[in-house]
Amino acid sequence: MQRPTTRKRPWPHAATGVVPLVIALGCSPASGGGPSTAWFEDAPLASDATAVDAGPIDATGAESDGGVDGLGSGEPDADAVADATPAPFVSDPQPAERLWPVPGELLILHVGVDSLLPKMGEATIVVGPTGTITLIDVGNDKHAGQVRALVETLNSSWLTTERGYPARSKRQVEWIVLTHFHADHGGGLEDLLQGDDALALQHGVVHRGWVDVGDGTTAGTWEPLCAALQSKPLDWPLCAPQTLPVCDLGALASHHPATTCGGLLRGRIDDPADDAGMAPTFLDLGGGARLTLLAADGWIGGGSLAAAPAMGYDDTNQENARSVVAWLSFGAFRGHFGGDLTGSGEPTEPDVETRLVAGVADSVWGPRGTDLAVAHHHARKTSNNATLIAALAPSDGRSRNVVGGISKLHVGSPHDDVVARWTAATRLGTGRFWVTHRTFTSAAPADFPALLDADGDVVLRTQQGGDGYWLQAPAQGVTQGFGCVRRVP
Ligand SMILES: [Zn+2]
Repeated sequence: MQRPTTRKRPWPHAATGVVPLVIALGCSPASGGGPSTAWFEDAPLASDATAVDAGPIDATGAESDGGVDGLGSGEPDADAVADATPAPFVSDPQPAERLWPVPGELLILHVGVDSLLPKMGEATIVVGPTGTITLIDVGNDKHAGQVRALVETLNSSWLTTERGYPARSKRQVEWIVLTHFHADHGGGLEDLLQGDDALALQHGVVHRGWVDVGDGTTAGTWEPLCAALQSKPLDWPLCAPQTLPVCDLGALASHHPATTCGGLLRGRIDDPADDAGMAPTFLDLGGGARLTLLAADGWIGGGSLAAAPAMGYDDTNQENARSVVAWLSFGAFRGHFGGDLTGSGEPTEPDVETRLVAGVADSVWGPRGTDLAVAHHHARKTSNNATLIAALAPSDGRSRNVVGGISKLHVGSPHDDVVARWTAATRLGTGRFWVTHRTFTSAAPADFPALLDADGDVVLRTQQGGDGYWLQAPAQGVTQGFGCVRRVP
């Protein structure tokens, strides 16, 4: 991927006099140009009862816009209507080996962070079809070595020119997305960006913004992170405050609320030419894969902006509620990431999940929801509420999968109630609830047949250009194949 020659302003709207667009919940139009669903409504499928205007799925099953639901065009591709009924998905022969990247397919590696190290952590590595690497959270400081080693292995052994990828350097990473500022998600970042073996970060770090910082963050984690980002041309905050806080947690006694989260409406994040359209912000992962950013700091995007719920300043869980939410698309495949977003509605756990559903379920997720959901907050019951699960995993008998990024210090994860909710009825079909680890107080596979403790990495690789995918728990020798919900009648 080419490095952009023009950087966007790191502080959208902060100094330009642009009026932040804040409208009521319910996802009203962002402008007078029509319903917000026009941005990138899921391509309707011929077999859906509501599907009369079939979407941009061509005869091969690959969506004509590179995978995101009409994004940028606003209208289905009329030429594709005649080919709207997808051929039945027939899986490739099951691979016997561990899943590593292959050109033209997407790979998602949920890192089973080293359970012997005394730190909680969650980290995911996304490898695009052309070999780009995007990290979604990087684990704690103790996990930086493990994440760096995986990046080196991917670049040195798998994403090579011999295997058909463009040339890459040993530690090359295109993007890092930090869901929020808690140490189990971003504590490793300072280490990864410093020193002789620093990652060769091509584009930057996307995060919720230097707003309302302080909830549950510690000086030891947050100050170096802040310094590492603000001092380099790597900083892509989605929300912006009136005044930029200094990188001193002690100096943050005053509030730095977001005055806008206009960073969610910038189209391709590194292309200034398309900002005026205010389409949802996305990272181009190459080869038709995109990571679209739907929420940050409690603000919901998806083509319009809904303001955050009132959230306080002194509660540790409210950092979770501010998590960045992302939607990964490639061909017919969809994946949902939401960090530690909360939804219980308890005083310390604002129900941002229900607001998210109100804002993006119709316009982005569509009636079929997702193929892969990463359970919020390490599958704790602060999160993963019934409204969210019903939207991402409707009870339609199609197969979907949930992954819990859990270290052995996330005591009580996954929670019984959460596993029960995700696996109820026919939400997952033949899919499973995969966890990287669990503890003795967590939900147990004996009680939940669909729960699979991978005891390490959980790896997903698409097949046939995103028509289907494999999920694998290498340490358990389990590999299972699925057709994507948009390809299965
Ligand atoms: Zn966490």
